[in-house]
Amino acid sequence: MKNRWNRKELSELADVDPVAVRVYSSQLLGAESDLVLHGGGNTSVKGVVDDVFGEKTDVLYVKGSGWDLRTIEAPGFPPTRLSYLQQLGQLSQLSDSEMMRQLRLALLDPSGPTPSVEAILHALIPHTYVDHSHADAVVTISNTPKGKEILTDLYGSEVLILPYIMPGFVLAKQVAEATAAVDWSQLKGIVLLHHGIFTFHDDAQTSYETMIELVSKAEDYLARHGAAQLAQADVTLSAADFDYLSRLRKFAGESFGGPILVRCDTSREAAGFARLENAVELAQRGPLTPDHTIHAKAFAAAFDVDPQQDLEAFRQLYQDYFQQHSSAEHQMLDTMPRYGVFKDRGMIYMAANQKRLGIVADISTHTLTAIQHGEALGGWTALPQQDLFAVEYWELEQAKLKSGNQRAEFEGKVALVSGAASGIGKACVESLITAGAVVVALDIKEMVFGHSSVLPINCDVTQADQIQAALAQALQEFGGIDLVVSNAGCFPSSSPIESLEDESWEQSVALNMSSHMKLLRASIPFLKNGFDPSVVIIGSKNVPAPGPGAAAYSVAKAGLNQLARVAALELGSFGIRVNSVHPNAIYDTAIWTDEVLTQRAAHYGMSVEDYRAANVLGAELNSADVAAVVTSLLSQAFSKTTGAQVAIDGGNERVI
Ligand code: ZN
Repeated sequence: MKNRWNRKELSELADVDPVAVRVYSSQLLGAESDLVLHGGGNTSVKGVVDDVFGEKTDVLYVKGSGWDLRTIEAPGFPPTRLSYLQQLGQLSQLSDSEMMRQLRLALLDPSGPTPSVEAILHALIPHTYVDHSHADAVVTISNTPKGKEILTDLYGSEVLILPYIMPGFVLAKQVAEATAAVDWSQLKGIVLLHHGIFTFHDDAQTSYETMIELVSKAEDYLARHGAAQLAQADVTLSAADFDYLSRLRKFAGESFGGPILVRCDTSREAAGFARLENAVELAQRGPLTPDHTIHAKAFAAAFDVDPQQDLEAFRQLYQDYFQQHSSAEHQMLDTMPRYGVFKDRGMIYMAANQKRLGIVADISTHTLTAIQHGEALGGWTALPQQDLFAVEYWELEQAKLKSGNQRAEFEGKVALVSGAASGIGKACVESLITAGAVVVALDIKEMVFGHSSVLPINCDVTQADQIQAALAQALQEFGGIDLVVSNAGCFPSSSPIESLEDESWEQSVALNMSSHMKLLRASIPFLKNGFDPSVVIIGSKNVPAPGPGAAAYSVAKAGLNQLARVAALELGSFGIRVNSVHPNAIYDTAIWTDEVLTQRAAHYGMSVEDYRAANVLGAELNSADVAAVVTSLLSQAFSKTTGAQVAIDGGNERVI
């Protein structure tokens, strides 16, 4: 484990402000996914503040819930009355919900985030700085038959090793009892089997570096004992696999209660694991740490040939697990698996949205490594299921999940937008991600979005093979397609029919008409498995009101319009809606350069400003206006509308 401490990175503030140092070294821990993953781990520092009466008060600045160590800042460490926390630690019993109430009462600032569930434990440790991680290497060793002995040999008497217990108040009590007779100055850290590791010191750097030292020892041990080798394989998915993913997403989403994202990971490591003879059995033994159950459930699914049967088999397993460990106060959560082994091909992840999908993917990746390391050390031994259940159904964790349950309109939906590099296409991408969708953005040109919800794919949509390849990539990344915005187009230079060149005509027909048919044709099998599937074709004012000199454009767009009408007729019985929008005079698109705009305005004897707003409403239009209409047409508001043609042109006299 790399020691990332660098004195030069610390601001001068760090000399006088213990919280600034705390932020710095917490982010160093957060930078290593092998130490903490997605909200895992927590840190604290003790200090003194003046309260409102001007009296010195000892406080614990402890990680607040909702903050991630990777990105935490000073407001993520709310000052909390230290003596109050220590007094709570003296109680013989405290329920979880009462503890959370008391933690809020201990805050000096009532608007601060709720202190971590481990705040009382941090308060009981007498050192100024306390670092806690869920280091993979340490937890992996503890998840093996001889884990405790190995860690005891490795760390000697400087590290206290404690058996697994639920996080929260009971863990704080366990540590308090185990350390009652301990000389803290002789102790470098505490290992919590199957959970993680604490280090502490009055000096921030020493506390951090002790963490790195202890974790490195565990990593070295794993490397020495042959655990460094991971299975690897190369896999290419087939058309049948993409069909499987698309149907899996449909069935799983139905049981989840709405659209979800499905990703198939065929990296060399994921494929290698899936090729192991006992891959499913290994993945079903249990997770790396119990807090992973909240995001990824307690075990994996097995995926192979029939998605419906595979989901049913998982549902049965999950229901048995629930019935065995639940009591009257529990209500069963959804039965959708979060990850599973796709036999011989890789791993499949599922989640409600892109952020959760990333969390599941990371958890799965770390777990597969840990499982194989654990196998090399005598056998992967996760916690018993009743302990996993206790964390998965812990009221505090369930409350956290529920607080983020309001779904955005397009959350879990996958949109495909062509011609996405600029203008209307780009505006549609932005509008759709704002509404919660993930977007597969196609363009022949380079695209820059800088948003993790966009998958940009360079694609010439006039070429059927390139469309197939792009769809394959989209299916692997998101599991399906629900929405299509068929937008790619060009505006050939103006020419009367008499002198129209073949090339100009053919290019316009190929891009403005035929490419839309090719994209639609390839998307239909996946749209049939989509959630409220819907297509919007970007037409043109030229369809109802053609212009002289624009035969190549107007004819291709008229053909495209007829394609949209036929598609609406053909696809209605599958619940797929197809509507068109006819924009006009959208001057922030690539075809309208300043030069063209000036020329056209001069042609009509108008100022550029008047020319821009030359419509019934006298309104200037831009790409975002079109995107708003497109997004509305794709939404529930238009769920009973198909075959419609909607103008977005400020009102055009020739059309009206
Ligand atoms: Zn922990």
